[in-house]
Amino acid sequence: MSNNHYNIVIAGGGMIGTSLALALAPLGLRVAVVEAIPRKAAAQPSFDDRSTALSRSTQRMFEAMGLWPRIVAASTPIRSIHVSDRGRFGFSHIDADEQNVEALGYVVINRVLGAVLQDALDALEGVDVIRPARISGIELAPEGATAVVDLADGSRQSLACDLLVAADGANSAVREMMGITAQKSRYGQHAVIGNLLPEKDIDNVAYERFTEQGPLAVLPVADGRAGFVWTVSEDDAERVMALDDPAFLAELQQQFGFRLGAFSKVGKRAAYPLVLSKALRLTATRSVLIGNSAHGLHPVSAQGFNLGMRDVAAIVDCIADASIWGRGPEASDADPAAVAAMLEQYAQWRRADQEKLVRFTDGLVKLFGSKRRPLRTLRNIGMLGFDLVPGVRSIFARHTMGLAGRLPRLSRGVPVK
Ligand SMILES: Cc1cc2nc3c(=O)[nH]c(=O)nc-3n(C[C@H](O)[C@H](O)[C@H](O)COP(=O)(O)OP(=O)(O)OC[C@H]3O[C@@H](n4cnc5c(N)ncnc54)[C@H](O)[C@@H]3O)c2cc1C
Repeated sequence: MSNNHYNIVIAGGGMIGTSLALALAPLGLRVAVVEAIPRKAAAQPSFDDRSTALSRSTQRMFEAMGLWPRIVAASTPIRSIHVSDRGRFGFSHIDADEQNVEALGYVVINRVLGAVLQDALDALEGVDVIRPARISGIELAPEGATAVVDLADGSRQSLACDLLVAADGANSAVREMMGITAQKSRYGQHAVIGNLLPEKDIDNVAYERFTEQGPLAVLPVADGRAGFVWTVSEDDAERVMALDDPAFLAELQQQFGFRLGAFSKVGKRAAYPLVLSKALRLTATRSVLIGNSAHGLHPVSAQGFNLGMRDVAAIVDCIADASIWGRGPEASDADPAAVAAMLEQYAQWRRADQEKLVRFTDGLVKLFGSKRRPLRTLRNIGMLGFDLVPGVRSIFARHTMGLAGRLPRLSRGVPVK
């Protein structure tokens, strides 16, 4: 096998690609991660200033991968979730105690999570991180795949591999090169994110408030601060981003109310256009989609990364069980039929979870975004029912925590080897 032959090439070293490389480590395969943006660059699109709520199944994965102590040290637990509808009667709330768990999830700043994951990746043996470099072409054949990589110095390199994994995000170029179409629909909304200081202690509560413009999430983060994800209409995003800090805080406060007292000291803001995207297939010859390249969700239910992590857990399970590289990574003995069967198993396994989350998230945005009277009435009954009907909250909480359905080993906290 030549130096440029890998068992697995991962396109994209963002949150999901990096996590996959780390999750594969116990299998002793030869892996390359190709990432377009230099480490610590302000332009890194994955490890940025957003805060991500990690679900319980993601926590279990990081536990099984031995990374959780470092991640939890930099995270803030969510002990309850408070859901309300601005200007409406009724709210719901889910409690960790009620679910018999220590926390419903943990909030971590993406940049902080990125530092932990990338440090661990850089320390791994058997993984080549090629960065900054961009995959500009691929060739897929039953005998193997090749990725053409454009390096920062203007040169070009070919990486041959047994399996190519696209983890290059919602606008995945590799997905297109694989010949897979993604259905996309714009929500006509932007998520404006940042953090601020609330007057009152946020006390490990995550708030989700549905407003006329869209959902507003306020999450507990380190140092008594709160991270916010504020959905505003596409037409209003530019104006909101251009407001000075006092005017911005006044508008945000008006949407959220005074449950946490007065807001102050808002940090740097950023805006993300919100698009629902769903790949029509998950695999092609010798190649597979994971994370946002397969599905891009509205951040309303804080599920995109967590769903992507379940893709990671499932593909690692499939790879481990298929014993494709039975004679060890040195031998390029990955049988084409075995790889195809393994990819088919992955696609079947992941389709239901991905479709359910797409429907659930999209439905939530539409239900709470609707101005139509019957829907508004329904959702108020729904939210009250949500609190009153026995069992409903439990089912919702299990989905939010990523614990519903058949779970791969890592999502159950079981090391893959
Ligand atoms: C405002 C907001 C809040 C969110 N909050 C949450 C939350 O609370 N919980 C949650 O679970 N999810 C959340 N999400 C979703 C989550 O951020 C995404 O699901 C996650 O970042 C997807 O990771 P990814 O690695 O698949 O893709 P990306 O983060 O897009 O990373 C793709 C990587 O591939 C690289 N790349 C691109 N093209 C190439 C190429 N040709 N060659 C090489 N490299 C390439 C990029 O540089 C990048 O590093 C949120 C999203 C938004 C917008």
